[in-house]
Order: sequence, then structure tokens, then C-alpha cells
Amino acid sequence: MRLIFDEITERKRQYSISSGQWFPAVEGVSVMAAAASLEVSRKDAQTALLRGEIVGSLRMVCDRCSEPYVEELCCDFVYLATTREEAALDEGEREVAETEELTLYLKDAVIEVDELLAEQVHLAIPQKRLCSEQCRGICVGCGAVLNQDPCHCPEEEKVTPFTVLKRLQKQ
Ligand SMILES: [Zn+2]
Ligand SMILES: [Zn+2]
Repeated sequence: MRLIFDEITERKRQYSISSGQWFPAVEGVSVMAAAASLEVSRKDAQTALLRGEIVGSLRMVCDRCSEPYVEELCCDFVYLATTREEAALDEGEREVAETEELTLYLKDAVIEVDELLAEQVHLAIPQKRLCSEQCRGICVGCGAVLNQDPCHCPEEEKVTPFTVLKRLQKQ
């Protein structure tokens, strides 16, 4: 979706973007559902305010146990879209801007909404993917997925402080 900057007025307009075409391809992530909503209004002759939200369900793979799991995505964002040149925004204005706002400098007075949404998705997807904080991972000895199965390593090969001690005693 694209918004023409000149068509944005002071009256807030809402958009809901359910079609998932804007959702970027992210390695290891498949999208089960995703929707975005956007509220757009003009601030002044050269700036417009965009408030948006993205919600989705993503299937990804746990870094620790390699099992697939579903991650709920939910993020909101505020963009200040401006046709001004980057350098034209003076220091005072930068300080006044709300910290949560991201400034978007428009080259052609067109807002590429899909690009904004894709950027937000990349920011919102966790770097460390874990099916749960308590995920116990995979045993390096026998390969058991420890969330589901017990470790199958032979008793004597289990490395615990106790076995280390026993080995030392044998020497
Ligand atoms: Zn896991
Ligand atoms: Zn094991």
C-alpha cells in the first residue's frame, strides 16, 4: 500500500491492512496470520503522523531445542513522515520530537506503507528465538529433546560433578 502525501489531511484516516503481502520474508519464520492497522493525519504542511499496530502469529523454530513453536507478534509504532530534507530539521525540533517517533524522510511525497510495516516486523521479531524461557534444549550426548524426553545417555557417561569426582578417584 502507498499513501500519497498530498492527500493526507488533518482529519484522521484509519486503514486496516489484513492482506499479508506486506509481511517481509524472514528466514526461519512462516506467517500464520498477520494484520496491520494505521491511522494517518497531517501535522503541518510538510509532516504527517502515522500511528500503526501490527499483530500476527508466526511459526518459528526454537534456537535451543530446534522444535517449531508459535510466537505472537504485537507491536505499535509512530512515524513522523516529512517531505523536509533531513538537514532542515533543526536541533530544537529534534529535541521536541517524542522519543518514540521515528522520522521518515520522503523523497517523492509518497509513503510506502509496506516498507514501514516490513521494517517494524524486522524490529519486532526476537533475535533470540526460544519456545519458552525454560526451554531445556537438546542433550549434547544423546540428542534427546529434553522438554519432551528424558536424557538417554548411559549413566556413567553423564557428566555431573559427581562423575567427574569418581573419574578422578579411579585415576
Ligand atoms: Zn525450545
Ligand atoms: Zn543425554
